[in-house]
Amino acid sequence: MIGNLPTIYRNNSQNIQLVALCKEKYVKEFGFDKILHPLISDLKILENEGLKFSNPENNSEEYIRGSVFAVLGDNLGSHQIGGFTENFSTSEYFCRFCVYTREDLKNFDLHIKTLRNPENYAKYLNSDFDKGIKFNSPLNELKYFHVCQPGLPPCLSHDLFEGIISLDLMKIFNYFQKENIISLHCINQTLSFFVKKFKLRLSFPKMQFNAKKISGKCDEVWHIIILLPLIFLKSPIKCSESFWGFVTSMVEICRIICSPQLNRDQIQLLTHFLHTYFEYRKKCFPYEKLLPKHHYVMHYPDLIRKLGPLKSLWTMNFENKHQYFKSIIKNSKNFKNVVLTLSERHQLMQASLFDDRFKTGIVVKNAINFTNDMMINLT
Ligand SMILES: [Zn+2]
Repeated sequence: MIGNLPTIYRNNSQNIQLVALCKEKYVKEFGFDKILHPLISDLKILENEGLKFSNPENNSEEYIRGSVFAVLGDNLGSHQIGGFTENFSTSEYFCRFCVYTREDLKNFDLHIKTLRNPENYAKYLNSDFDKGIKFNSPLNELKYFHVCQPGLPPCLSHDLFEGIISLDLMKIFNYFQKENIISLHCINQTLSFFVKKFKLRLSFPKMQFNAKKISGKCDEVWHIIILLPLIFLKSPIKCSESFWGFVTSMVEICRIICSPQLNRDQIQLLTHFLHTYFEYRKKCFPYEKLLPKHHYVMHYPDLIRKLGPLKSLWTMNFENKHQYFKSIIKNSKNFKNVVLTLSERHQLMQASLFDDRFKTGIVVKNAINFTNDMMINLT
């Protein structure tokens, strides 16, 4: 994915290029060093020599250089490629952003510990202490990229909507049902009503009492969060301040993290809401243990400052790309050499798109230049 492209084009899965396809069993057999070798060699040329372009305006030739800004994936994929531990349930150090321990998580201490950086990554790698690093990532061979710069951003859809929000929201709904505050049947009915009312192109999962998490997809859980205030609109709800604080800080966290643009004050506000969210969670469910993802979101304000809005770095665009590959193999019914079939079909499709890839489809007719006089007339 070319980072220079405006977000509108980056969100289109057709603008995600294919650099390599590999079966997982070969990654395990040969390791990332061998598999990524051709890609790393190409990237080194791009970093050092660049690509030659001819400039027709002055008949000259120029070189354009580039590098990797971030490698996107879910937590398991990012840890695999970054050389970090892949064991999130028992490993002592499971955070790729800082040297946070399982003991901290058990003690409900979510604070960020010593941040990982290229220097301490190399130090921990060469020491006898296991600090959650298994091997040196081949991506670190690049001149302008390191997995701890931070180069492996989190995916907000996996961390939030398929992670802590779907778990914590279900806990709240179960509590509301148990205390006769609002029934799950009523919540399910209201959500179905909104699907028809707002003509939403999704179907909300039916929530069952005592379920551990909301079983829906990322966009379904995100829509429940958006519609949450409307669910409670008709029936005034009487519950403790802690529960309201928990629900409202949850909505605010999601709203800020999913924003396409953020200023410094909003990032500061996110830090505040994250702290209140976990304070209220502890008050409402003091014995409910925390997951590694609860700690990962504490890194979000710092990561947004360093990498920009995290919505432009989530993996949802790649999930669309996966759907495309799935449809090719389903329709071709050729399983002899899946990797070859997929890459050939993909490249043929890319070649056919080349001419009108960046046309917006917007046609402007009879337009005139905008002047300051018009502004005065408008006001
Ligand atoms: Zn951490």
